[in-house]
Amino acid sequence: MNNVCANWDEKCSGCGICESACPTGAISIHLKNGFFRPKVDETCVECGKCLRICPGNLNNDVISYQSFKYRIYGHSNSTVVRKEAASGAITTELLKYMLDNDVVDYVITAGIYQNDKDLGYSLIDKKNSSLLYNHSGSNYCPANIGRSIKEIKQNEGRYVIVCLPCLSRGISKLLKEDQVLNSRIKYVITLMCNHVPSYEATDYLLEKYKIKNPKMIKYRGNGWFGNFRAYDDIENGTEIFSVPFSEYFSTKYSEYFWQKACVNCIDHFGINSDACMGDADFVKYHSDSENDGETMVFSNNQEIITMIEAMESKGLISVFRDIEASDLEWIYGPLAKENRACELNTRSGARKILHEEMIERRIRQFKTFLCLPKRLLMRMIRSR
Ligand SMILES: Cc1cc2nc3c(=O)[nH]c(=O)nc-3n(C[C@H](O)[C@H](O)[C@H](O)COP(=O)(O)OP(=O)(O)OC[C@H]3O[C@@H](n4cnc5c(N)ncnc54)[C@H](O)[C@@H]3O)c2cc1C
Repeated sequence: MNNVCANWDEKCSGCGICESACPTGAISIHLKNGFFRPKVDETCVECGKCLRICPGNLNNDVISYQSFKYRIYGHSNSTVVRKEAASGAITTELLKYMLDNDVVDYVITAGIYQNDKDLGYSLIDKKNSSLLYNHSGSNYCPANIGRSIKEIKQNEGRYVIVCLPCLSRGISKLLKEDQVLNSRIKYVITLMCNHVPSYEATDYLLEKYKIKNPKMIKYRGNGWFGNFRAYDDIENGTEIFSVPFSEYFSTKYSEYFWQKACVNCIDHFGINSDACMGDADFVKYHSDSENDGETMVFSNNQEIITMIEAMESKGLISVFRDIEASDLEWIYGPLAKENRACELNTRSGARKILHEEMIERRIRQFKTFLCLPKRLLMRMIRSR
């Protein structure tokens, strides 16, 4: 078949770009094992456009942070905004700056996880630009951009899109084929990415921590690296659960629930993006005191660099340029060449993992039980 079905298992990241590009509307996106996957119906004419724009079709060049010449880190000067962001809130501040200064008319950024397992993208304009603050933070679950690309095709305006590197590669291929989109999408900002966990990973956390029917979830924010938080409502909801990033991310949550496209991925930065944002982890590990978060910014686009400098001179953000090459290599080097040894763990279901954990727990309890008489005996001997 000359369509994305050929890429289905090995290369598909579920970004949804094929759905938006299909000239006959033959492609629809569905959830399968916690990831989005395309379905192709009988109206497909096998023109091959979806395969041409699929970001899964990569050549084998190693893509490194070194491809970006401008490398700084920094944070928002608003303590409130900085605290709720994933890292230092430079992404949110840059998007806000673009809207407030008429650089773009619309921001397209991931929605907020509301327990409906269909994280689409939100459209934010100048009138409601403060919504960007609600959206800050990283979503560790799949997001499908198909609907939003269709909206851009229908509505004139200048757009900036925030997305993961895989999607940004798809967008840049799409822009070469579609002049209307090319004239409207002005900037693509990527979030540096190790992998995106499936929705089953979120189910795993909900079951592990016994969180019942949350209405909204935040994976980061509330300090650095922040917390996984569940709320009982979307707007002004009460926080019903919170666990630190360092605790939940080191569980099976990040070890399992991978898709093969992430295991095989060699572009963690979004090589064609206008800017790539990541956690400046080295700052955290070098500081003695608690730090509210720093965003690492990589770019080759002079317009983005000029905007960042303007934001700095207006006092909106603080920027640091004193970065050691060894720090960059330590944090971002392995991302480009790491051995994805967890391949065997891909797409193991949440239920299976929870079941295994339960059995392990029972075995531990049983062993403790068996040791009990021995311990009692020892205690009796000691007490004599
Ligand atoms: C799945 C994933 C994996 C990541 N892996 C790494 C990593 O390994 N190393 C690293 O240094 N950084 C990683 N990051 C990036 C990091 O978590 C921060 O997003 C980045 O540092 C920007 O921080 P910030 O405070 O400037 O962003 P904020 O000011 O908090 O703004 C973040 C913006 O990104 C949007 N957004 C959040 N999640 C998504 C998503 N899934 N798709 C599209 N848009 C989204 C939000 O809506 C918001 O507009 C990852 C992010 C994600 C989503």
